[in-house]
Amino acid sequence: MARHQNIRNLDYEAELEEYGAFSDEEEEELSPEDQVRMREGTAQVLEALGVEAHKVPKTQIEESLWHYYWDVDKTITYLISKYIDPPKKPAKTAPPKTAPKQDAAIASASRQSFAHLFRDLPWGNIPPERQAVLIPPPQLPAGLLGGSGAPPKMSKLQQLAAARKKKAEEKSASGEVEQTQVKMTELTVNDNQASKENRPLAGVFGKRVKISETTAQGRIPLTMAEPTRPEIPQAQAPEATPSQHQEEDPIDPEPAVAPPKAQPSAFASTLFGPSSDSPKRRPREVFALPYMAISSYSPDAFGKPSPDDVVLAAQAKVATAGKKSANVHNKKGSSSADGVTNQVSQLKIDDTPLPKSRNLNVLSEFEKQKGKKTASFVVVGHVDAGKSTMMGRLLLDLNVVDQRTVDKLRKEAEKIGKTSFALAWVLDQRHEERSRGVTIDIATNRFETETTSFTILDAPGHRDFIPNMIAGASQADFAILVIDASTGAFESGLKGQTREHSLLIRSMGVSRIIVAVNKLDTVNWSQERFDEITHQVSGFLTATGFQPKNIAFVPVSGLHGDNLVRKSTDPAASWYTGKTLVEELEASEPSARALAKPLRMTISEVMRTPQSSISITGRIDAGSLQMGDALLVQPSGEKAYVKSLQVDDGEPADWAVAGQNVVLHLSNIDPIHVRVGDIVCDPAKPIQCVDTFTLKALAFDILMPMQVDVHRGRLHAAGKIEAIDAILDKVTGKVTKKKPMIVKPGTVSRVRVTLHSKVPLEAGQRVVLRSGGQTVAAGLLE
Ligand code: GDP
Repeated sequence: MARHQNIRNLDYEAELEEYGAFSDEEEEELSPEDQVRMREGTAQVLEALGVEAHKVPKTQIEESLWHYYWDVDKTITYLISKYIDPPKKPAKTAPPKTAPKQDAAIASASRQSFAHLFRDLPWGNIPPERQAVLIPPPQLPAGLLGGSGAPPKMSKLQQLAAARKKKAEEKSASGEVEQTQVKMTELTVNDNQASKENRPLAGVFGKRVKISETTAQGRIPLTMAEPTRPEIPQAQAPEATPSQHQEEDPIDPEPAVAPPKAQPSAFASTLFGPSSDSPKRRPREVFALPYMAISSYSPDAFGKPSPDDVVLAAQAKVATAGKKSANVHNKKGSSSADGVTNQVSQLKIDDTPLPKSRNLNVLSEFEKQKGKKTASFVVVGHVDAGKSTMMGRLLLDLNVVDQRTVDKLRKEAEKIGKTSFALAWVLDQRHEERSRGVTIDIATNRFETETTSFTILDAPGHRDFIPNMIAGASQADFAILVIDASTGAFESGLKGQTREHSLLIRSMGVSRIIVAVNKLDTVNWSQERFDEITHQVSGFLTATGFQPKNIAFVPVSGLHGDNLVRKSTDPAASWYTGKTLVEELEASEPSARALAKPLRMTISEVMRTPQSSISITGRIDAGSLQMGDALLVQPSGEKAYVKSLQVDDGEPADWAVAGQNVVLHLSNIDPIHVRVGDIVCDPAKPIQCVDTFTLKALAFDILMPMQVDVHRGRLHAAGKIEAIDAILDKVTGKVTKKKPMIVKPGTVSRVRVTLHSKVPLEAGQRVVLRSGGQTVAAGLLE
């Protein structure tokens, strides 16, 4: 068995018992001398008690003898009063009484001195096995033990016992003195800093002081005489050098170990002055903090970067810049903490050369190119309407994804028992989203037809994802509204999410909408059903603000691909002779591009790519940009440069214009200044950051001064409706009522909104107001 196992298996208690560690016998064992006294005393007591002796236990005789220091007379008196003839009345000279009840003791105490009272107590009814606990420590006054305040008359045996005690006391006292002297010696060594001017420095002692001095120079005021905060470089502050610990550690226990009454030796007095309570003595609180004197402590010490933070930041920066090592900083110790912080921030050395610009005239390049037109669309509709499946099928039929990919996805879908999800997964292949069964973000997917390059902004219809839908809609040229035509589904969907989505996309500036009446295969391609839905939805959309010429209806089956890219071959669908969904998409004119306006682009994604440590994606809302351009990121106000870029199809490009979705690879900017929802703009004509604005809003719910969340694209900001200035006429925009208390749903009004923080916003932008998870209004910034 290994040694440690042996140790682990030891039965410590058994072992200790064997060695008598728990035995009381050893503690109580009398010396041979005492044993003789005990024998003799017991014999005398038994003899004196005579026939009554049997009433007294032998152990009590011994205990009494022991406690009376072999005083046979007292022992006999006590034992008689206790066991043989307990007195009715307390006699003046009576031995200690039993006083079984506390009441009796109190009554007795009222008539007698306190000395009598205490005399009775120690031997009350305490069981013999516990009496040892009551053995008084030697330094206690004898009065408490002997039953009287006056020194008792001593027998020979008592004298012997007393002499023995005294000897022991002297021994322990001399031990304490020795200890004290040792401590005093330690004190003379440790306290060198306070009194160094008074004593010679030599040998090891001198060396220690030098180390301490070196340490102290840069960091620690060791006396209270130094009232101002030393010029401490924060980079050094937290480290306590070993020498410093040597100096400080022994100081702390000092007050605890010094005996209160001990007088310093003559040598110590010479060194320290008259006594340990001398006012010259250095106040202990100087050392209360390991690296900072109390006098220099400031309550705002934590308002700044911690010394550790500063050290780390300094080391990282200095290492990057290839400058001095952090050690150099640590040794300096002359600059202030603030100075170091400033220096660190000034160490921002970015030696990345600025990307070169080809100074192209982007607009004329765009005119020359005459490529395919580009269009982005958003897909909206309630959950399970079939949006993802339809888009997956579209990509499959347009050969954007191959059958093999779909088959693979179908196998994966089978594993979780949701085969029909395979097509939906084409749009978004991120695994964690698949396992959740929902797509949770805008997945941009592109496809091309002969005439147009399309970008799908997939916006799932789940209620929680409405902010994403707002972001998608804010970038879309037009929308596909997917409606589930299967029995009952349409009705429930129309009332809920479909209605809100339609309102939202219209409010976000989307003016063209293609309604895909989906899942017609489930109703056997019923034309009646299609017409019924068409009728209801067109009325509804017109009321929402879409013009009839901008609304198109296509009966489809997303799952089977009918009327998406190819016409349905199902005979039951032969009644439909109109355009396929793709033909409708191609017929949709993209909105006019704000090409000549200042650059504006909302950041949809921030990521690290092989091209750059910071790449951003988004759709250019206005203006144009090219490689090498300087950009301003708002609200951080930091500048960045376009190192390279990719446009819609992911191909590298030299320039991009409004309407295109781009990936910009940036340089010369710290990623912490770039966030999703920020706006990239022209540094010469930047977007302003505001915390208050006026909005011409269409109310979806009752509006009043209330807390709201403001959404613009991917930007979310908390704020509140500060005031309602006026109700406006829906058509003319004229004021119909000033300062209304509330605004009813469906009404257009002018509201003033304040935000909790400044965000980049400007006139002409569309924003949505939400409250309690509901969209309450949408409108145009004035
Ligand atoms: P989303 O929540 O709108 O994206 O809906 P999904 O694309 O996830 O589809 C929801 C369910 O409807 C899935 O089980 C699909 O298989 C099913 N589905 C979608 N389109 C059709 C269709 O045209 N016909 C039939 N029969 N089922 C469909």
